[in-house]
Amino acid sequence: MSTILKKSTKSLAGWANYPRCKAEILAPADRVGVRAVIFENEQVIARGNGKSYGDASLAPKVLSTLRLNQVLSFDTENGVIECEAGALLGDLLKVLVPAGWFFQVTPGIKEITVGGAIASDVHGKNHPNAGCFSKHLISFELMTASGEIKCCSRNENTTLFWQSCGGMGWTGVVLSARFQLLKITSTTMLQKTVMAKDLDGLLSAFEANRAWPYAAGWVDCTSKHWRGTVFFAEHQQARTPTNPLVFSEAPKRNVPFYAPSWLLNPLSIRAHNHFFFNKKRKEEEVVTLDKYFYPLDALQNWNRFYGKRGLVQYQFCLPEINSFAGMRQVLETIRKSQEVPFLTVLKRHGERPPEAIHSFPIQGYSLALDFPRTRGIFELIKKLDALVWQLDGKIYLTKDACSAPQMGRVNPADFGEEKFTSLLRERILAH
Ligand SMILES: Cc1cc2nc3c(=O)[nH]c(=O)nc-3n(C[C@H](O)[C@H](O)[C@H](O)COP(=O)(O)OP(=O)(O)OC[C@H]3O[C@@H](n4cnc5c(N)ncnc54)[C@H](O)[C@@H]3O)c2cc1C
Repeated sequence: MSTILKKSTKSLAGWANYPRCKAEILAPADRVGVRAVIFENEQVIARGNGKSYGDASLAPKVLSTLRLNQVLSFDTENGVIECEAGALLGDLLKVLVPAGWFFQVTPGIKEITVGGAIASDVHGKNHPNAGCFSKHLISFELMTASGEIKCCSRNENTTLFWQSCGGMGWTGVVLSARFQLLKITSTTMLQKTVMAKDLDGLLSAFEANRAWPYAAGWVDCTSKHWRGTVFFAEHQQARTPTNPLVFSEAPKRNVPFYAPSWLLNPLSIRAHNHFFFNKKRKEEEVVTLDKYFYPLDALQNWNRFYGKRGLVQYQFCLPEINSFAGMRQVLETIRKSQEVPFLTVLKRHGERPPEAIHSFPIQGYSLALDFPRTRGIFELIKKLDALVWQLDGKIYLTKDACSAPQMGRVNPADFGEEKFTSLLRERILAH
């Protein structure tokens, strides 16, 4: 087997373990190899670390970028890094944090690639003030269907730049990227926890605490009035700036095998939620970067709790004007069904710059809901789609596996070239 291009075939899935498809994984070691994969295959889709939930990086042929993972330059004075697209955020942190830098925007998982961050235009817990990943992106190199390498930035190949941010890999393969970092002087966060007895209390807590740069909430969908908790945070300023900064991770535990599908049922979820809501927490406490930003990373393969059938994540965003009443309508629709989400994440979002045409967040609130994949889940998603559409909302395509084709409010036909086609793109185009 050539070391320039590693090939393997296996049954592949995203983080949700649904859907699944047999795929040939082509893993080039350099850009010559990337070009060869593009030329030799009629259709292919770039795949980073496969942490999108649904079918965004699934196809019969996938181009894995994981071997393109080098840091190309790091300006420690100005906090600008350039790296290959397959570099994992978690690996970059080990270089950035000791030099006093962190990501301006990070999702709730660090095992994703820079290419995946661009193609999904990921957002973090600070969207109202920091925007999406694209806001801090200086430039990237993209290999298109012709094998040409285009340097894309706000001044060069501008249309392609904005098409690719949140473009789900449909414009080509991102090879490398340069982006601006955030200065930090400590590796700790001051975290404030607010508990709310109902949904209005939860949303009001976000509104009342806008001064905190980071915020993410949890909603107990098994409780009568949708009680929950919001975790706000800010970076701590170091008292002694000379302290060495080290990115320390929580010790990792692993879920070694798939749990039986019945493990997560309405009763067990209710019991978990009761425990989580009533867990003793200090109103304010100091936590590590890893604990605040990536709490789930401490439990590897936690998706196996959902069993071999996997899960379906539904993340939708509603415009501000419809957020309070709309969230309630969505949660009522879920309550009337037999389906019970396990993990939930509530976030507030700021304005979307007009050029960021494919970014998911719109000014308002989003809620991500992880449902065990039961027989009835698709019927519920249909109802949620209809409601979210009527409320002028949208869904996040990187989490999608089964929503109606218009729900991402993106037309894959606008991307022209169908060389870069995933099951997601095919599914939307088929309608
Ligand atoms: C536990 C968990 C928490 C998460 N939290 C958040 C969150 O808070 N905010 C958020 O925004 N997202 C979140 N996500 C989603 C995740 O950040 C995105 O799906 C991200 O794109 C995954 O990156 P990846 O490298 O695994 O890419 P993959 O899943 O492999 O691919 C995702 C998309 O990017 C494309 N792509 C990948 N690499 C390239 C490349 N080099 N060139 C062109 N296209 C490429 C693929 O074609 C695909 O369309 C979360 C996911 C998990 C599992």
